Amino acid sequence: MNGDLASLPTLVPVVPGERPKLGSGAAKAPPGLPDRKALGDATKALLERLETLQAAFHADARRALLLVLQGRDASGKDGTIRTVVGACNPMGVRVAAFGPPTDRELAHDFLWRVHQVVPPRGVIGVFNRSHYEDVLVVRVRKLAPSSVWKPRFQQICDFERMLVENGTVIVKCCLHISKDEQKQRLQERLDDPQKNWKFRLGDLDDRAHWDKYTVAYRDMLAKTSTAVAPWYVVPADDNRVRNYFVARLLVDTLEAMDLRYPRMAPEVAKAARGFK
Ligand code: AMP
Ligand code: MG
Repeated sequence: MNGDLASLPTLVPVVPGERPKLGSGAAKAPPGLPDRKALGDATKALLERLETLQAAFHADARRALLLVLQGRDASGKDGTIRTVVGACNPMGVRVAAFGPPTDRELAHDFLWRVHQVVPPRGVIGVFNRSHYEDVLVVRVRKLAPSSVWKPRFQQICDFERMLVENGTVIVKCCLHISKDEQKQRLQERLDDPQKNWKFRLGDLDDRAHWDKYTVAYRDMLAKTSTAVAPWYVVPADDNRVRNYFVARLLVDTLEAMDLRYPRMAPEVAKAARGFK
């Protein structure tokens, strides 16, 4: 990590059991960040580093990395994938998006469709929404009774611990926007013919349920931020700030992995001695 980056703020994980305040303040840039230009430069440097680290991570192939992006409509999940994950070589990335479950998916337990798309070793898997919808939209819209969704907090913790114990590193980002910022973004989406395809019938309804979602998100964070798979609340009202923090989390996570390029297989090394 170069010196300039090391002095910039990083996010701290949600403390297990603690319900973070998800007011509009938490969606704004925290203190200590440089001006927009310098922040953009820092993110650019991080994305270059990410590309290098991912190449080593892919070759190393001892672990998988799962990036969970959860957040309300227009919180910037797609933009994060485009800008931050987009710095990676697509060969080593798999993105899965989770919409309303199909009949076939509903005939299984809620983690069935999730487990099928977790990344293998050497791959960065990105979830655009995730199994957390099953304690968010399902709860708020009463798609299942509390006797079904409440036990899921523990089921999710158990599932994620199993993944971690089998070689997956999990980074969970809750992209947090304020109600005002969401209004502006949804309005833009309605007005812009290149964006309004993203609109779903339920989106305005979800906004009407803002406070219920806030409660559901706070419970989710408290109950499923664990030592092995912590949550980070990413301030996401400003795209640059959001991109900086997600890039920083990925870079710091990969830096901590002690990545190694595998040694050439002995038979290849032997054959290479005769290479002309
Ligand atoms: P988008 O991410 O904008 O493509 O929208 C996906 C939609 O699918 C959102 O409205 C989610 O709330 C919804 N969704 C995702 N997972 C589930 C689930 N398990 N049950 C019900 N709705 C879901
Ligand atoms: Mg949507």
